[in-house]
This record gives sequence, structure tokens and C-alpha cells, in this order.
Amino acid sequence: MTEVLPDVAAARKRFLEITRAGTSLGLVPTMGALHEGHLSLVRRAADENDIVAVSVFVNPTQFNDPEDLKRYPRDFEEDRILLESAGTDLVFYPDTEDMYADGYRYKVTEVENSLLLEGAHRGGYFDGVLTVVLKLLNITGADRAYFGEKDWQQFNLIRGMAKAFFLDTEIIPCSLVREDDGLAMSSRNARLTPAERELAPAFHRILAGSGSPEVKTARLEEAGFAVDYVEEREGRILGAVHLGRVRLIDNVRI
Ligand code: AMP
Repeated sequence: MTEVLPDVAAARKRFLEITRAGTSLGLVPTMGALHEGHLSLVRRAADENDIVAVSVFVNPTQFNDPEDLKRYPRDFEEDRILLESAGTDLVFYPDTEDMYADGYRYKVTEVENSLLLEGAHRGGYFDGVLTVVLKLLNITGADRAYFGEKDWQQFNLIRGMAKAFFLDTEIIPCSLVREDDGLAMSSRNARLTPAERELAPAFHRILAGSGSPEVKTARLEEAGFAVDYVEEREGRILGAVHLGRVRLIDNVRI
């Protein structure tokens, strides 16, 4: 039976019992609206740890668009059922006042790579991500934390933060999970209209195809996407596009 921890104080107490008993703890941070991509992280954590905790928290500090935050899909009961079936022992489900009792006066900032790619298009995004992940790692004391390669830049920045601050948690990357037609699974895909959903796999197809980033940008625009960026970095090609009111990101190894 999955146990729900609804506040920071109860969670700290429970996680301390677990880590003091010498039981290994794996953490999967999420914003809910769960799909197979998230569940693949949970299963991996269950394979590699005695206890698996999943946090479900729509982190307001990583949204620069209030409309996007308002429209972000939420269904905790459905998430809880999926997490139970994937082998989750504990779900940490805090509210914003509890997580940000300081009113977000304190934050973690990376000053170089966080300004590129996603950071160049979403002001303050990585401050919000790094800050909430540091809070979650401190609250849980997890031995390992699992992050998807779908958010490649996010994973890299979190791994860098763990190293910079001598955190004890091992940061583990997990493969990107796609729909059968190649579209990267994302909670935001549910907001695509049927016509947009039909077009969406072309994003991955064009990104993974031949040509320079400039050529791929032109092909995406021709297909009907509004392109934020297509860039090559560290042997990967990364992209972000808007399709109607939904923003999609993806990346492939070159
Ligand atoms: P989110 O709820 O979108 O913040 O995602 C929570 C975690 O799940 C992050 O580490 C994401 O990178 C990961 N994730 C989301 N979608 C996928 C996917 N399609 N494949 C693999 N990991 C994913």
C-alpha cells in the first residue's frame, strides 16, 4: 500500500526513520499528471533501492507563464493509483506554502549553462528547478534520485548542483520514453488538439533527421511549428517548439 506524506514535517520524520534504519531510498521527483515516462523512472528506482519515494509537486517557481501554471494538468487520485501499480512505497505530496515557507527568498542559481537553451526562453526556470530539487533532496535524504533524459539540460544542471554542493545523493539519468509514433511522452501532450497531436511526431522526426540545426529549424517552421531553438551540444541535438498553446521539448543523440 502506498503511503501519502502530505506535509514537510511528516515527510522528514518518515524519511529519517528510513535512512537511519540503513534502508536504501530512491527518489523520483515529478509534477504529477503521470505517464509511462515517469513510471519508467519509478520502476528503475524500485529495481535499485529498498524503498521508492515519488514527489508530486507542481512547482510554481519554475513557471514563467502564469497561464501555463494554471493550465498544468493535475489529478492526484489518478497519479496515486498509477504510482501504487508501479511499486511506489511513499508519495510526498506537499503544498506550496509548506515547500516555500521562506516565500522563495532563498534560491539556487547556476550562472552559465542555465542561461542557454531552455533558460534563454524561460526566465528563472532553472532557479526554480534547482531550488525545489535541493529542497526535495534535503527533505528525503535519498541515496539516489532519478531524472529523465527528456529534460537533458535539467538533468545536467542537477548533477552539477549535486557535485558543487557535495550532496550525498547520486543523480541518475533515465532514457527518454516515446509514444509509438516517436513523440516524447509529456504531461503537456494531453493539451494538444487532435490535429496538433497528429502533427506533433514530426518534431522528433525532423530533429532526428539529417541536416544542420538551421535546416531543421526551417523544416519545423514549414511543418507548422514555432521554433524556440534547435541547437547541437555535447553530441546531442536539442530542440523546443510551440504547437498551438503547447510547448514541446525533445533531444536526440547525434
Ligand atoms: P515532470 O513531471 O515533467 O517534471 O517530470 C518528472 C521527471 O520525469 C523528470 O525527471 C523528467 O525528465 C521525467 N520525464 C518526463 N517525461 C519523460 C519521458 N518521456 N521519458 C523519460 N523521462 C521523462
